[in-house]
Amino acid sequence: MSRSRFLAAVLGVFAVVALAAPPAATAAPQQALVRTIYYDSSRAAELASTVDQAVQIWNAGVTSVKLVRGTGGITITTAQNGSAPGTASCVGCTRGQIYFYRNQITSSGASSLRVVVHEFGHILSLNHPSDIGNCAKVMAGGRCSNAQPSTAELAAVQRFWTGRVAAPAPAPFEGAVFAAA
Ligand SMILES: [Zn+2]
Repeated sequence: MSRSRFLAAVLGVFAVVALAAPPAATAAPQQALVRTIYYDSSRAAELASTVDQAVQIWNAGVTSVKLVRGTGGITITTAQNGSAPGTASCVGCTRGQIYFYRNQITSSGASSLRVVVHEFGHILSLNHPSDIGNCAKVMAGGRCSNAQPSTAELAAVQRFWTGRVAAPAPAPFEGAVFAAA
């Protein structure tokens, strides 16, 4: 085989490979950018199913960010004793930690699902409102059972993650948010 015929044969193979490759790049620009936040609930113990419920609530309410089970993102740990029902290590972030404390969830008077939705709310960018104890807002703590974020809370999360790269902020001090009457 001459050098030129050999090159032609090699180029022919590349052409076939190129034709066989799926046209993935052409479809991408049509889709809106959705941020993915991975969460690992393997150390959430008995709260693992509650974590999945909380994730479903947030995923059903917003489209600009999606919580997906996996590693390398938010790790969730349930422990016995702490100073608050739950803590989140950052606000508006894709990597961090959530802790839940059994003794505080029990004494808070809040439903465990509300506590879990609340801590994910911090990860998803929400801080505490001024009207602590307002059961209509999951970020308001209080002795409440409602675990459905308000329309305004969902809208704030939707806005934060729309076309935005995560810019983590320090987590707020939980203090007596859930203990407030
Ligand atoms: Zn909080």
